Amino acid sequence: MDLRQSIKAVSLEDIEQQSKRVSAIMDEIKSVMLAPQAKKTPPTFGSGEIQAICGIDKAKLAYRLSLKDLPGGNLKGTRREWSLVEAQQWARAFNPEHMRPNGASAVTITVANFKGGVAKTTSAVSLAQGLSLMGHKVLLIDLDPQGSATTLFGLIPDAEIDSDQTALSMFTGEQDNIDYAIQHTYWDGIDLVGASPALFAAEFALPARQTKDAGFEFWKVLDYGLDSARSIYDVIVIDTPPALSYVTINSMLAADGIVIPLPPSALDFASSAQFWDLFSDLCQQLYAGGRGTKTFEFIDVLLSRVEASDAASSVVRQWIMEAYGDKVLPIEIPKTSVAATAAAEFGTVYDIPKGSVSAKTYARARDAYDRYCTLVEEQVRAVWAKQIESLKEQS
Ligand code: ADP
Ligand code: MG
Repeated sequence: MDLRQSIKAVSLEDIEQQSKRVSAIMDEIKSVMLAPQAKKTPPTFGSGEIQAICGIDKAKLAYRLSLKDLPGGNLKGTRREWSLVEAQQWARAFNPEHMRPNGASAVTITVANFKGGVAKTTSAVSLAQGLSLMGHKVLLIDLDPQGSATTLFGLIPDAEIDSDQTALSMFTGEQDNIDYAIQHTYWDGIDLVGASPALFAAEFALPARQTKDAGFEFWKVLDYGLDSARSIYDVIVIDTPPALSYVTINSMLAADGIVIPLPPSALDFASSAQFWDLFSDLCQQLYAGGRGTKTFEFIDVLLSRVEASDAASSVVRQWIMEAYGDKVLPIEIPKTSVAATAAAEFGTVYDIPKGSVSAKTYARARDAYDRYCTLVEEQVRAVWAKQIESLKEQS
């Protein structure tokens, strides 16, 4: 055989054809996946799930139903079924002390790690959904031009998100806050700022603005841009691209808290060391010469995609504990077929119905994500408490 035949040259025309083929299949997947409405639908909730959301038992649920002050759901035979909006009403009724106090503003949480594939997007979207199920009003901002979080909301970044529906116009300075880009989603209680490849232009726009105006602080554009949203939402969750880009820096410096998903693998650990090194250098430059400072209310390292059987991971886990100490959240997200099953339908553990994988597998995954969301909610509440305290001191 002629050795030269073992490779196949690809021209730019071939690449264009390839691109068209993938897009066509993507459209097909979407119309099949979302049939018949061509739109994602939120989950519904049974009695057991309402009990879990409210932290109550069967008797307490029955009693509260008899009071008729909360939605009774739809009676389907003997089974009751509540909508997402109704489930959130129940959550708020049973945990009023967990809700954002008057005068407090949204807590912004950025999910970041320079590495791709560490579960940033999964962790961001699941957090938004978990917090929403606890009754909080959430804004999810997708700042990755790849738009994976946007896709999880049933929207195809290229075809269904215009560049003026992304954060781009805020980064270019055409808009001074993000409100113009906010849209409702299939998940009541989560609004979205979507992303599309057009957002990549922010990487040129921000340094260009800096060149024109030496006093321009490129790293604070998002922070300022979130001001009005902070009075409307309880929590703002930001998903970032796998790079230390201008947009990522903006996301980090707009955040009250940071979640760093980190699989216990040697390469991911090594890459996290670079992340801190670069970020620390950068912050020192940005804030040099008396230009203020930045305090994060919390930084969480989230052990993600943890393989129970992986011997190497226990060694790496020790390095992580040693390096990050009490920043490591006391929960591990297992590598689970639930995530894969859900992802095949462009969703998360909070989207797929209980019966779609074995009950044990589902419970293990769901419990881990619920626990992660509860741990973050506790920190969000602590930030609110600090905000209220400093308001009191000022008055
Ligand atoms: P990133 O945003 O960091 O690139 P993603 O959230 O897109 O990472 O996750 C990367 C891949 O890993 C996706 O295919 C996702 O479905 C999968 N994944 C995420 N979390 C888990 C998990 N706990 N178990 C199994 N697969 C996971
Ligand atoms: Mg991602």
